[in-house]
Amino acid sequence: MLPPPAATGTQTLPQLPPPPVAPGPSPPEKQPPLGPREGNLINPRNRKPSATVKTRMAAGLGVFTGACSPALPLSAPQNVVKFTPPMTVAVCIACGAEKFGAWVPCPVCGFEPTTVVDKAKSLMLSDQSVPPDELHRYSSLIKSSQQVPYEPVSLAYWADVIEEDEYFLVHLDHERGVLPCMRCGSVFKPKLEEIFCPACACETKEALCSCSKCVKIFERDAKYCQECGAMVVPKPDLSPTSIGRELAIAVRRIITTVDVLAKFETLSEMRRVLPSEKRVRTEVELEILGMYVSVLALRQVTPSLRLVEGIVKAMLDLYQKGWLLAGVASSAVGDRADLCLSRFQQYEDAWGVHENKRTFWLAEAATRHCLGIEKNLKAVTEMMLVINYLIQIFRHSLNSAISR
Ligand SMILES: [Zn+2]
Ligand SMILES: [Zn+2]
Ligand SMILES: [Zn+2]
Repeated sequence: MLPPPAATGTQTLPQLPPPPVAPGPSPPEKQPPLGPREGNLINPRNRKPSATVKTRMAAGLGVFTGACSPALPLSAPQNVVKFTPPMTVAVCIACGAEKFGAWVPCPVCGFEPTTVVDKAKSLMLSDQSVPPDELHRYSSLIKSSQQVPYEPVSLAYWADVIEEDEYFLVHLDHERGVLPCMRCGSVFKPKLEEIFCPACACETKEALCSCSKCVKIFERDAKYCQECGAMVVPKPDLSPTSIGRELAIAVRRIITTVDVLAKFETLSEMRRVLPSEKRVRTEVELEILGMYVSVLALRQVTPSLRLVEGIVKAMLDLYQKGWLLAGVASSAVGDRADLCLSRFQQYEDAWGVHENKRTFWLAEAATRHCLGIEKNLKAVTEMMLVINYLIQIFRHSLNSAISR
């Protein structure tokens, strides 16, 4: 593995404004699918007693502290304490009727979400996830027999949370007080309601430490910041899994809502002349590039390669689950995952070509893979701006996750 990236030379190049913070022109927005929106990234926390979500939803109560906040964790204790319960207005995913409570039976058609996926969809179609006017729009879509564009990575996220939440109840051996680890299957005795054995929890759910001064994260046994020497503080809400999922959703959100090539003359023209099937390919490749660039941003916030690997694995896991939920055949999901890994390696190689020109060589590889363009300096220069723009966005997402 290469060392963490140095500064990417952004100071010498004109930049697109980073959308999360800067005003001014930005690339045109695409019509977003139903999923998280800007500043609304999900922050999955460590699992807490599982009855909370279920009970609240069944009771028709929301699980978040504010409207439109899938960023907030399910069933974290502060929700229970601080929560001022509005009745959750939700839309029946079967008939489009409005109802109170995402998981209650529909008063019109009687449909009750019982599967994990239906429950996840129902959560996404509630006023806790989308503003009321959008809820009406989705209600009308269903009533006119049209498909709701559930964003698959967000759907996978919610499905994961619900699945983990229900796992304990279903698998606990009440007599012996043990259950099989959800990840490796080995039987263990949970202290609270954890569903991962200590070894798996250590790898995926371990609470990380952070230095608030440098906005960096470290493994849980770190004592001091390797950057400034200050004492680091434990962050029980941050784990490799939570950060990986958050990055997956950040990449997905940017790629599906912002047309990152549109501002650039050469890149957009080259895309315009592509045959339609190749244009679809460009979208796939841009998303993979986004994933890779999010890893570069990640390396700027942690020196630990082990941590980076764990986070990237969680990101890819969520993506794969999202593809499956979107109806992609499991063999094709494997192919896509392989493509991601081989591109990651190619981008990694490009990043390592020349220490002072990392972004240039990455941009050269990206223009080739995304648009089939070779040896076009203008296209490469524009792609460097795209990459710098994406790095800023993912840094922003990571910084807000770390500083929460
Ligand atoms: Zn209904
Ligand atoms: Zn395990
Ligand atoms: Zn520090």
